[in-house]
Amino acid sequence: MNGLNRLVDGALADAVLVRNMVKATEHSLKARRSVIEGHYPDWEAMRERAHAVRRRSLDENAALWAQAEAAIRRRGGEFVRAPGPTAAVGSVLEALAPYKGSPVVKAKSMVTEELGLREAMEAEGFEVHETDLGELIVQWERRPPSHITAPAIHLSREQIGRLFEAKLGVPYTSDPVELTALARRFLREKFLAARAGVTGANFIVAETGTLVLLENEGNIRLTTSLTERLVAVTGMEKIVPTLDDLKVLLRMLPVSATGQFQNGTTSFIPLGRGHRLVVYEGYRRALLDDGEFRDILLCIRCGACLNICPVYGLVGGHTYRSVYPGPIGVITGPFLSGSRKPEAGSRGEEERREAGDRSRQKAEGDKQAAGGRHPSLGPDEGKDGRSGRRPRADSKLETRNSKLASGNLQLSSLCGACTDACPVKVPIHSIILKLRAASPKPPMERLAFGTGRALSVPGLWRFATALGALLPRFLADRLARPWTRERGSLGLARGDFASLWKKRRL
Ligand code: SF4
Repeated sequence: MNGLNRLVDGALADAVLVRNMVKATEHSLKARRSVIEGHYPDWEAMRERAHAVRRRSLDENAALWAQAEAAIRRRGGEFVRAPGPTAAVGSVLEALAPYKGSPVVKAKSMVTEELGLREAMEAEGFEVHETDLGELIVQWERRPPSHITAPAIHLSREQIGRLFEAKLGVPYTSDPVELTALARRFLREKFLAARAGVTGANFIVAETGTLVLLENEGNIRLTTSLTERLVAVTGMEKIVPTLDDLKVLLRMLPVSATGQFQNGTTSFIPLGRGHRLVVYEGYRRALLDDGEFRDILLCIRCGACLNICPVYGLVGGHTYRSVYPGPIGVITGPFLSGSRKPEAGSRGEEERREAGDRSRQKAEGDKQAAGGRHPSLGPDEGKDGRSGRRPRADSKLETRNSKLASGNLQLSSLCGACTDACPVKVPIHSIILKLRAASPKPPMERLAFGTGRALSVPGLWRFATALGALLPRFLADRLARPWTRERGSLGLARGDFASLWKKRRL
């Protein structure tokens, strides 16, 4: 049994996990359906419009970022392009270096998960607190989020109660109101003490250089307004041309993500003085020029494809061995892990940019060290181009972005529900099929297809079925494990269909 099968079996055997997953995803699906049916009779037309907006964001990506950069710089903000993870992490560390003495509050962000930013900051001596309740829970749990928008979806309130008891030293409770109040009290102290904050970005509006952040808890509003220094990190695909274009996405995101007609709070922050925007390119740059797989970048990280996926809904996010779980994780994983290279653009270009960036970082670091300031990165770069100072303590975190993520291609029933649910029309299941066709087949699949080809020769077919009919049923089933574990028995009838047919007609 391979590693992926073991993980799947482990997840399915965990009755609490399966119950938590089914309950949470079904609730979200039901809510989504009722909002769409009740408020958006033109949902399909909205999907077309959202798709067109996202497509323009990719088609005109360079020009749109130039526009955003000009607007941000005009207001005195800092704009940093990070060609690779080292540059992205380094830029954040450098911007926050003067704030090391006080807590740093951090909003939920998938791109910073991708970069391992919080762990890199902790390794540099920062005290970092996730401020989204779900993200705080998984930070305490020392596990990656198991969902894009609901990081602690895998846990029941009883499990969360135990975690709070251990972490905060409070009496056990599983009451959601009490648990929320405890988290609130803990976080309020951190917010009041923090001088710097880190966020991701739902969108950046090109025409105004505005950072747009959606949330329900108010923690992002506090992170961005109580601190004197704000660093936002975004993937290069998150640009939107105009405020008018943003409208359709703002209506669709909360419905698709949490089944809400409207999310609690949306912040529009015109980036300027005291702000730094780090635009992370990484594998996205080459993917942008890739004719076949470019549509992956249309994604707005809503999580609807996770909630509707029959596989994700049972096994949960930690089975995927990738920072992005579910269907979007299945198609992002191979590129994120580097096991699949986009066709055009080229990895070489990314590596050259990364190398150039490293030498710039080093020069900058030396300069800062000479001036007594904190160098953003030392010379100890890891083999993977990340800071060599990234923590290696937790093996659960190690699995993120691992090469194993390409094995996730098997975690799909190809039912196409993800594609239908996607608000921006990412053709998810078609991409899974293309990636599967281009990747090495698992041994069992090779065996099955090889056998199929061999048995298409009539003589061999007759011989094999005659031989198979002699095998006792239990032996045939045992030989065909694991196929027969989930499916009907393989015992063959004595006499095949062709010979029965011949007899009857005679
Ligand atoms: S692929 Fe579509 S449904 Fe899935 S997270 Fe991205 S935008 Fe949402």
